[in-house]
Amino acid sequence: MQTVVKQLVNEDGEVVPVDEQVWHAVRDFAGDNALVCTGEYTSFGSGHGTYESKKMHTGITCKDCRAVISAFHKLKL
Ligand SMILES: [Zn+2]
Repeated sequence: MQTVVKQLVNEDGEVVPVDEQVWHAVRDFAGDNALVCTGEYTSFGSGHGTYESKKMHTGITCKDCRAVISAFHKLKL
């Protein structure tokens, strides 16, 4: 299970239209959750946006998050 988040209000305080809301991947960055695609903090008190979160096995619908994850999968260790 992984946590995914949907941005309801962006960092500028603008409501994100429902048809533009997507589920983002999050990662830990300096002790707080941040969006994989933009790096915006999603934890209460860390950023200015408003988010809905849930735990899922799949379901990342943000094309930018998916592109970042795909790019990392192509790296060889
Ligand atoms: Zn994203």
